[in-house]
Amino acid sequence: MNAPQGAWRLTLCYMLAAGLWVAFSDSLLVNLGMSQPQLERAQLLKGLAFVLLTTGLLYAVLRAHHEQQRLAHHALQRSEKRLQDALEAAQNGMWDWNLQTQRLYVSPGYSALLGLRAHELGHDLQHWLKRLHPNDRTSFDRHLEERLAARNPAPYEVNYRLLHQDGSYRWIQSRGRLLFDEHGQAERLIGTASDITQRRKDEDSLRQAAAVFDATQEGVLVTDAQQHIVHCNPAFTRITGYSQAEILGQSPSMLKSGRHDKAFYDSLWNALQNRGAWSGEVWNRRKSGEIYPQWQCIRVIHDEQGGISHYVAVFSDISALKRSQRELDYLAHHDPLSNLPNRLLFTERVQHALERARLDGQSGAVLLIDLDHFKHINESLGHNIGDLLLKDVGERLAQQLGKRMTLARLGGDEFGLLDETCSSAEQAAVMAQRLQACLMQAFKVTDTELFVTASIGISLYPSEAVDVGQVLRNADSALFKAKSSGRESYAFYSQELTEHASQRVELASALRHALDNQELRVYYQPLMCLGSQEMIGVEALVRWQHPQRGLVAPGEFIPIAEETGLIGTIDAWVLEQSCRQMVAWQIAGFALRFVAVNVSSRLFSRGELDVRVAEVLHNTGLDPANLELEVTESAVMDNPGAALALLERLRALGIRLAIDDFGTGYSSLARLKRLPVHKLKLDQSFVSGLPHDQDDVAITRAVIALGHSMGLKVLAEGIEQLEQVELLQQLGCDHAQGYYFGRPQPAEQLTRHLALSVANTD
Ligand code: C2E
Ligand code: MG
Ligand code: MG
Repeated sequence: MNAPQGAWRLTLCYMLAAGLWVAFSDSLLVNLGMSQPQLERAQLLKGLAFVLLTTGLLYAVLRAHHEQQRLAHHALQRSEKRLQDALEAAQNGMWDWNLQTQRLYVSPGYSALLGLRAHELGHDLQHWLKRLHPNDRTSFDRHLEERLAARNPAPYEVNYRLLHQDGSYRWIQSRGRLLFDEHGQAERLIGTASDITQRRKDEDSLRQAAAVFDATQEGVLVTDAQQHIVHCNPAFTRITGYSQAEILGQSPSMLKSGRHDKAFYDSLWNALQNRGAWSGEVWNRRKSGEIYPQWQCIRVIHDEQGGISHYVAVFSDISALKRSQRELDYLAHHDPLSNLPNRLLFTERVQHALERARLDGQSGAVLLIDLDHFKHINESLGHNIGDLLLKDVGERLAQQLGKRMTLARLGGDEFGLLDETCSSAEQAAVMAQRLQACLMQAFKVTDTELFVTASIGISLYPSEAVDVGQVLRNADSALFKAKSSGRESYAFYSQELTEHASQRVELASALRHALDNQELRVYYQPLMCLGSQEMIGVEALVRWQHPQRGLVAPGEFIPIAEETGLIGTIDAWVLEQSCRQMVAWQIAGFALRFVAVNVSSRLFSRGELDVRVAEVLHNTGLDPANLELEVTESAVMDNPGAALALLERLRALGIRLAIDDFGTGYSSLARLKRLPVHKLKLDQSFVSGLPHDQDDVAITRAVIALGHSMGLKVLAEGIEQLEQVELLQQLGCDHAQGYYFGRPQPAEQLTRHLALSVANTD
């Protein structure tokens, strides 16, 4: 029952009751038979009682009504307060826009959103519109028009920017609805507003993060606290080959390569637990099964309570980087021609080997392998052939390698071998022999058969050297020793070798003064005719009368003189002395046909030798026919073109020419044939094996036949025994030289000998 109905019913009841009372109460009193005065008093009392009753009734009704109103007022106040509190708690403001009066009501909370006090925004709509961001005005107006036109009472939502009191614009989200009056006219728009600036910023950041997540080249993997994969990005799929659908809910351990041990993963988890992050290199497996390296950072994500909520792994595939690093490393450490390690890598390996030797007490050896006369191959056949040969030599040497050995090309025709298993000098010698033997078979390079031999220097460690520099220096000294003791040999480094080297330094400085101090001597060795056993000439051989060391042989100081450039002066001095001596012997009447003088290859290659010789001949007055110059086979073959021209010029002077140490160089027969020489001097290394060494016999026979076929005389050097004389006579050798006939001796001694033989023949 509503309030007006209740009021009507109550009023009607009262009217009925009061009417009945007025109509029947008097006749009731009359029927009681009262006297007039009693009746009058009773009527008065009845009237008073009626007034009392109705007054009480009125009071009760009014009081009930008042109480009801008070309760309703309180309920309304409470409800308003609740609404206000709710809006404040939500940091929302309330607004009410009367479309008919164009008045705007905003709650104090609304003003607070814009940094204003309750009354500051006012009720003027225009005032409010001024705060709207200019860029949002158009969309705001359009939205309002559409809503009014559609007469849609459903709630709506619209976002725009309003100017805050601090000068910045705040994003406001407005939610409202359109209300109509009883005639169906749009009356008001009412709703709430909230500041969503921070939310928009967060959304922007999230959008950016999502774009980065999608676009980044790094793979990203997110797992929950139980390590179930919950998210991955497109780069993850590209790198691993797994799509998101395939890996969701799985454990990242499905990517394990098996390359890392338990200790690795233990330290990873330790770092995550203690520091909340780990980064490092991990080898994982792609879907295709391929194992690849990745650089990975893992972070722990915590929830508000501080518990672990997620793990995020970000990684990049570094296989390409590793590959190019490997390639660069390979290039830096390898020789491009032979593909063998180069000097840098070799030195590093020797360094490691020395460190290991220090730790485990094992010893090893370094062998330097240098090809003999390789220069000639390069010069006569060209560098292309030379390079191909070097490559083949490298391959052949590599076939001899065993465990823990490194073969390197150190440059030019020099190879290095590190043998970490070599425990004795004998073992190293066997290795050196094996290497030399493997080179014996001919190399076939573009249809040309080539033969090479190698000299090897050996340094043992740690017994002889403890650092890389020393090991390599020792091997180098040993190689020098091997080279100077002839072809195809090997030598060990020894302390005595080092001393030898330092002596050489001392000798070099002393040699500079030897000439001034008149310490050089010329000795003469007889040269014999094998048929008649007559002395036909002498070879001049230089000696150094060292004040402390005594007589020093040329083998010891000629190489030093060549290195220091003193050789020119020495040879010129020897030449002049020899020519003078020859003239003196001639004047004395000795029947010597010639004096042979050695010419260094250094001097020979310089080219002006003929001028010097002509000068000396002129100064001493010796007949050119009495002078023979000896040049070594290698001096001629080093630069055949220039040598040929020089020899031609020397010959034109009228002197005789001999090729010394024949058989030790790389003579080309075609070139030899064109040389204007008179004599071949067969090297003493072939003669020493006579008469028993069949190889030496064969070589000797061949050289004699060769010389004769070219119209040359052949002299055998180094004859020490009668048997050798006899064999050489049999083989048809022309001339001879050796201790058997006479040692190199001072001129006076030889003069006495000559005088004696002249006297004997007389
Ligand atoms: P070479 O020209 O081949 O001289 C022959 C060498 O053989 C000499 O050594 C000689 O003493 C040695 N010899 C001779 N007969 C025998 C023998 O029966 N048995 C042995 N074992 N050796 C014998 P030497 O005098 O020590 O000279 C060595 C080399 O030094 C010479 O070899 C020559 O190439 C060079 N030489 C000597 N004097 C000079 C010089 O004035 N100028 C230049 N540039 N080089 C010289
Ligand atoms: Mg000689
Ligand atoms: Mg010789």
